[in-house]
Amino acid sequence: MTTEAVPAAEVEAGPVYPSLSPSRAADFKTCPLLYRFRTIDRLPETPSPDQARGTLVHAVLERLFDLPAAARTVSAATDLVDTEWRRMLEEVPEVAGLEVPEEFLDSARELLTGYFTVEDPRRLEPAERESLISALVDDQLLIRGYVDRLDVSPDGALRVVDYKTGGAPREAFEARALFQLKFYALVLWRTRGVVPRVLRLLYLKDAEVCDYSPDAEELARFERTLLALWQAIERATAAGDFRPKPSRLCGWCSHQAVCPAFGGTPPPFPSPRPPAPVEVEPARGWDDGVG
Ligand code: SF4
Repeated sequence: MTTEAVPAAEVEAGPVYPSLSPSRAADFKTCPLLYRFRTIDRLPETPSPDQARGTLVHAVLERLFDLPAAARTVSAATDLVDTEWRRMLEEVPEVAGLEVPEEFLDSARELLTGYFTVEDPRRLEPAERESLISALVDDQLLIRGYVDRLDVSPDGALRVVDYKTGGAPREAFEARALFQLKFYALVLWRTRGVVPRVLRLLYLKDAEVCDYSPDAEELARFERTLLALWQAIERATAAGDFRPKPSRLCGWCSHQAVCPAFGGTPPPFPSPRPPAPVEVEPARGWDDGVG
C-alpha cells in the first residue's frame, strides 16, 4: 500500500481520483442508503436550527482567531454572532428560508461562552483553520476533508481540534466524531510524516474536552479499514445496492420519507450506473446532524 501527499496543482489539474470525505465515509458506515441519498442521488437537505447554529458557531470561532490575541474575548466572540449570522442569511440559501426560534442567537452566544471555559483563545495561535487537507491512499483514493483547527506546537507536534455544538445526545455521535478525527490524523500522518499527538473533541454545550492520542499502528489499521470501506462502496455502486441500516441516528436523517425502513420508496437508481463519486470540493456539511 502506498500513500503520498498530493501537490495542490495536481489536485486541480492532474489525474482525477475518486475521493472520500470523512462525512461520506461515516455515512456509508452508518447506513449505506444514507450514503446513496447524499452522494449519488444528492437529495436536498434542509438544515435544522441546531445544525444552522452549529455552522454559525464554527464560523464565529474561525473569525475569532483573525483578531489580535488580546482581543479574543467572550464579548468579541458574542459580538461576532450577529455579523456572521447576517452573512449566512445572505450567502446560504437554505439558511435564509429557515425558521429559527427566538432564542436562537442567544443560544449560539451561550455555546461560545461555554467555549471560553475550556480554552483561552488568547493563548492559542492556530496553524490552520477550516483547512482542506487531502492525501492519496493506495494510488487510488483521494481522502480529504476540512479540519476545524490545527495547532502546531514549537516542537512540531500536531493537535487536531474539532468543535461539537450538538443539540443531539453526544453518545449518539461520539463514534462518528472519533472516526472523523482519525481520518484527519491519517491524512496528516501520510502528508506530513507526523502522527498527530492529540485529536481533540471540544464539546461546547457540555464545556468538555475529549482528547485522544492515536499511534501509527492504529492509523495504518484505520487506512486498511478505509480502503475496505471504499471497496464496499464501489461494489454497492456497481450493483446499485445500498441497503437501509436503521439505528437511533435515523432520528436525525432527513430522508425517512423515501426510506424503506420507514415505509418510503427510494428514487430509481441512476442508470447507467454512476462512476465512483468524485467530491471536487467536499461539502463542509452541517454540523451535528448525521452530517
Ligand atoms: S432513515 Fe435511517 S435507515 Fe433510512 S436512510 Fe436514513 S439513516 Fe438510513
